[in-house]
Amino acid sequence: MDGAIVRTTLSLISPGILLVFGIAFVCAWLIERKRSYLLVLASACALFALGAISQILGWPPGAGPNAIVSGAIYTSAVLAAAEGILLRSGTRLGLRMDAAVLIGFTLLLAYFFYVDRNLLARVYIQNFGYGIILLVAAVRLSPLAGGRYVDRVLFWILLAFALHFFPRTLLTVGLSVPTDKTAFANSMFWQLLQLSLAVLGVGLALAILAAAVTDVIDDLRRERDTDLLTGVLNRRGFEERSAAYLRNGGQGTASLVLCDVDNFKSINDAHGHDVGDNVLREVGRVLRKSSRKGDIVGRLGGEEFAVFLPDTSAEEAYECSERLRIAIENTSFSALAGARQLTASFGVGTFKSSDAWSSLYKRVDARLYEAKRTGRNRTIAQEFSSSKVDGETEMSAHTVRPVR
Ligand code: GH3
Ligand code: MG
Ligand code: MG
Repeated sequence: MDGAIVRTTLSLISPGILLVFGIAFVCAWLIERKRSYLLVLASACALFALGAISQILGWPPGAGPNAIVSGAIYTSAVLAAAEGILLRSGTRLGLRMDAAVLIGFTLLLAYFFYVDRNLLARVYIQNFGYGIILLVAAVRLSPLAGGRYVDRVLFWILLAFALHFFPRTLLTVGLSVPTDKTAFANSMFWQLLQLSLAVLGVGLALAILAAAVTDVIDDLRRERDTDLLTGVLNRRGFEERSAAYLRNGGQGTASLVLCDVDNFKSINDAHGHDVGDNVLREVGRVLRKSSRKGDIVGRLGGEEFAVFLPDTSAEEAYECSERLRIAIENTSFSALAGARQLTASFGVGTFKSSDAWSSLYKRVDARLYEAKRTGRNRTIAQEFSSSKVDGETEMSAHTVRPVR
């Protein structure tokens, strides 16, 4: 087979692969349309493929128009890739910067074709220019280097991709470049360019796709674990997070607070279910706002909430519970238009090394029941019948809050 045909076929492989990635990005976007960065990345793949096809198939015809048009398409592809990756992390270069870079690069390419015909300058402008754009994106993404595994991989591949433009160009082109078309196509520079784009380009596309899939899975998991009404964790999410903390060695000092809104049924009866729902939303907000960073807040069902307190002794847990109770008591609930005060009862317990989740839950639930039975709007942090709970810190009489 003719060498030129083989070369053309081989150089169409990279754009072909990137087109497949482009389709994959569109499919991922169809699953979660709010992730618009996926469409930007799809357009980056499509633009790159278009640039390669324009260059390889010689469209538009004529060396000058072809170099400038394919150059502008490549520049747009690199800018779109940088913007897509940045957009995923909530940042961007900005359309103005994109337009300035695109116009600047295109004018320079035109200058070094029509005014000062210099292929070497065009090679350096494109390669170093693209390296710099991607390097700026990598620097912006550097916080990801300390993040999740997929983010770290994405950051390092992007950085490698950005940096490789410099030594590859310097080492394969040096200070001269073959101007003859066939010699250029056979040059070390062109061959290595094709290879590096195929390997690093595909690596980068794979890393972004993996990160995007992880984002989608994380979102689904968050949705699965979140209580839709109040925005705090649902029972499943709450138990899973608390159990994970205990599994990871925090056992012994963690505490659990259970909270049940007092006489909630009467709110539904007096104001309707919708108002009841809004009250629950506000209770969730108050609990979240009044708990510490690191505390795990969940709604276990109905008007029962729970707060898991990592690394918290019995005394501290009691204080936390009282802080939550007083916060609810002092909140003027907008859903009730200040018409009545809302209170809640609390049970508190601390994990012992031998505790299973269910045994602590039962113990704390019994205390919550005692808080209800003895008048509501109070925290009970010990068994009512005995002064000392098996192995747990003995709490003084003040842990049982008298009704005011
Ligand atoms: P206590 O002080 O003993 O806890 O009395 P209570 O009225 O709060 O408790 P009870 O268990 O008798 O009633 C709880 C009510 O909460 C009954 C149920 O209709 C209502 N409820 C449960 N889930 C929801 C919900 O998601 N939205 C609304 N609006 N009401 C709910
Ligand atoms: Mg209740
Ligand atoms: Mg209840």
